[in-house]
Amino acid sequence: MRRISILGATGSIGANTVKVVEAMEDEAFQTVTVTGHSNIVELAAIARRLRAEVAVTADPTRLEDLREALEGTDIEAAAGPEALVEAASRPADWVMSSIVGAAGLAPTLAAARTGATIALANKETLVAAGHLFLAEVEKSGATLLPVDSEHNALFQCMAAERGQMERLILTASGGPFRNHSLDQMRAVTVAEAVAHPNWSMGQRISIDSASMFNKSLEMIEAWHLFDVTPQQIEVLVHPQSIVHSMVGFCDGTVMAHLGPPDMRVAIGHSLNYPDRRHLPVERLDFAKLSRLDFQAPDLERFPAMGLAREAMVPGVAGCVLNGAHEVALDAFIAGQIGFLDMAHLVGETMGRLDGLPVATSLDDIYEVDAQARQVGAELVGRFAA
Ligand code: NAD
Ligand code: MG
Repeated sequence: MRRISILGATGSIGANTVKVVEAMEDEAFQTVTVTGHSNIVELAAIARRLRAEVAVTADPTRLEDLREALEGTDIEAAAGPEALVEAASRPADWVMSSIVGAAGLAPTLAAARTGATIALANKETLVAAGHLFLAEVEKSGATLLPVDSEHNALFQCMAAERGQMERLILTASGGPFRNHSLDQMRAVTVAEAVAHPNWSMGQRISIDSASMFNKSLEMIEAWHLFDVTPQQIEVLVHPQSIVHSMVGFCDGTVMAHLGPPDMRVAIGHSLNYPDRRHLPVERLDFAKLSRLDFQAPDLERFPAMGLAREAMVPGVAGCVLNGAHEVALDAFIAGQIGFLDMAHLVGETMGRLDGLPVATSLDDIYEVDAQARQVGAELVGRFAA
């Protein structure tokens, strides 16, 4: 029986992962760890459904609530960031990393150290600590499979031909403000930013899609995952979200990955890899689609992608970008800064923390992350004024 764990089981990717696991009717899984944060009722429900060995809430004050919610079962309850890392370190064959933000870093690293197959949705692990994380993956012999739809698409397009790759084309829906003017973008609200036209996702990544910070993180993610230079990474706006990304080869061939905008495709691919198995997702009807549109991204209205280019350098610029971005996103959600201020705040933080030494440990990463958050928080006051 395959042993699996789901870190961030209560989120959007987590819920889709549970669905995919349950859809694999001809295989029985042993669930080791499921984790969540504030939604204890949902966490306990998932733990019961999957008969997990341990359920962990990242919130240390919620242990009693979780114990109560698991009463009558023999599922272990645990709480707090250390418990999260301990549970992520338990031997498993396949681990879904789907916590949101830098909070996913330590548990994902812990899971990678066991040598498990890591299905990686938490892009922040690569953005903030790509060099360190990949070194640990290499050392433990873990298998890394990208779940972010674009990267999963790229992975599938390259197959065995990685050496012949010329360029990676990351597609982007362009989000709800694709055709907004700069003036209109200045005034957008959180509710407008969360309403993604094609994908149903967590709140943070939905806003990131609207600002294209998501694409910015994904450019850095692609740079770490695949052996390419920053110049080989292109972004292409594709409003229908049917082509999930493309790889161009040295003979001019371009391979594209198409599918419905449904994360279960990438999750299922990573669960069944290297095999393919039936997934209960919608099938594309090309006659109904009738057209696919593509356009170059506008760096003036979506400056986050320019910041990604500055961050694709050896060192800790990615970590600074990630920490400052999380602060900026919190401040936008809290109504403290405007939509366009997010990129200005991140750019300015990166400028101020330029040239920090290379990180060689997780502690170094946390140190840089803390500095970025501190500078970012100072700047929030200025943009708010
Ligand atoms: P979400 O907000 O729906 O869920 C986040 C999960 O993380 C929940 O289980 C939550 O309990 C947990 N969590 C939140 N704060 C935490 C903390 N401080 N400590 C520990 N756990 C915490 O997010 P999501 O949309 O499922 O995204 C998860 C990750 O996958 C993100 O890194 C996102 O960028 C990436 N991703 C998501 C999608 C998508 O379709 N939703 C697509 C591609 C990549
Ligand atoms: Mg994506």
